[in-house]
Amino acid sequence: MNVKPWNDCPTCPSCGQACGTRCPIDGAEAPAAGVLRCLACGHEWAATQAELEQAARADAAWLERLEPEHRQMNAEMEEFARRTGGSL
Ligand SMILES: [Zn+2]
Repeated sequence: MNVKPWNDCPTCPSCGQACGTRCPIDGAEAPAAGVLRCLACGHEWAATQAELEQAARADAAWLERLEPEHRQMNAEMEEFARRTGGSL
C-alpha cells in the first residue's frame, strides 16, 4: 500500500479516520498546543508526542503539495490579466 505522506495523519479516536491535523481549516484557528483536530468530524483530542510528530510530517507534506498548485493558479491569473490588457 502506498500511503502518501499527506494522508498519513494520526487516527481520530472519535470517528476512526486518519484525519488528525494541526492545520487550521477553512479559516478556523489552529488547535491548541498538543491538540489535534479531525478533518473529518471536527473532534479535538490531546495527542501523544508520536501522534503530534506524525501530524507535523503530514501537515508539512500537505503544505508542500499545495504550493505548486498555488503557483499554477497565480500563473493562470497573470496570463489572464495579460490577455485582457491588465484589467480584470
Ligand atoms: Zn474524526
